[in-house]
Amino acid sequence: MENKVTFKDIGAIDGHLHMHYWYDKNKNVDFLHGYEEYKEVTGLKAINIASLPSGAASTRDVSNNILCALCKLANDNIYIHGGFIYPEYPLNPEKMQGMDILTQYNELMEIGFDGIKMLEGKPNLYSLVKYPICGEAYAPFFKQAEKDGTHILMHVNDPEIFWDKENAPQYLKDKGWFYGEGDYISNVEMYAQIDTLLESNPELNLTLAHFFFKSASPEELEMMFSRYKNLAVDITPGGEMYLGFKKRPEYFRDFFTKYDERIVFGTDGDFPTCMPAMEWLCDRIFRFLATDEEIKSFEDEMIKGIKIPVESVKKIMGTNFENRVSPTPRSINKEALKRYIEKYKHLIREQGAFEIIEKYAKELLY
Ligand SMILES: [Zn+2]
Repeated sequence: MENKVTFKDIGAIDGHLHMHYWYDKNKNVDFLHGYEEYKEVTGLKAINIASLPSGAASTRDVSNNILCALCKLANDNIYIHGGFIYPEYPLNPEKMQGMDILTQYNELMEIGFDGIKMLEGKPNLYSLVKYPICGEAYAPFFKQAEKDGTHILMHVNDPEIFWDKENAPQYLKDKGWFYGEGDYISNVEMYAQIDTLLESNPELNLTLAHFFFKSASPEELEMMFSRYKNLAVDITPGGEMYLGFKKRPEYFRDFFTKYDERIVFGTDGDFPTCMPAMEWLCDRIFRFLATDEEIKSFEDEMIKGIKIPVESVKKIMGTNFENRVSPTPRSINKEALKRYIEKYKHLIREQGAFEIIEKYAKELLY
């Protein structure tokens, strides 16, 4: 009889989470304990919180980096990826004195961040920053990160339907994710920036989120994998990618087995967490990979699991993250974090975030 492996047995690491807020009104817990229940319920070995400190929403500022660092300081088995902040949009290198991208990278590394998260390739943020990912302001950072082997988790583009005037659903327009009008960058142009970036930095330790939105043309990923030895993708939904996988089950069974060291698991969940949704996501992705069950998938469609070998499932759901980032989370350098808070706290926009940072900085750093 076959031994049934479950999600809890495989040392899974959720490599792609966020922390959108500092307080959960419903559960009356703050960010510091935001993921305890999730880890407990799902048996995850570790989690990675990717900071989102830039964007239009009032919670998107330097406070997100600081909250991630404080959360890591107070919990075991938390990895964090920090993001860049912009004193104003669009990015103007002349206004970044003392906080140019390379300086910010060095500060985050000194604090003890485990990697860098970039959302700058998502067209709605790109429309604010309005600066090429392969441009000069980022170049010294990418060179240094390539040299250091630092892991970068990058969101580039979105599903093609986000540009599609006829077929884009209303919810995209409500979320500000419809790029079919206005002066949003085209996905062709954005992909070309990543090609240029990788040509200049072929050894970058880069994970492209959401399968790089290539489930309809995975041959392009195969080409990139053959060219760039440290490149990976994550399979964080984007439910649309699973509908792409569904169209070619045999092909993707081979793909996931052959490239089982280039694929990383994540959920894109965030704090405040919705536990049933988080459990559902973990279970969905695990069963898609590890079983041949017919399961209810995203967008209410049924999908059949591809049942790749257990060893491949373990790599994708756990060890790949450790190998690409580090075997255990780095520790926080309190002095560096204190300096960072002092330097940037004037950029925090919401009073609530400011107060909670002051409170925990006092308790945890002094
Ligand atoms: Zn995300």
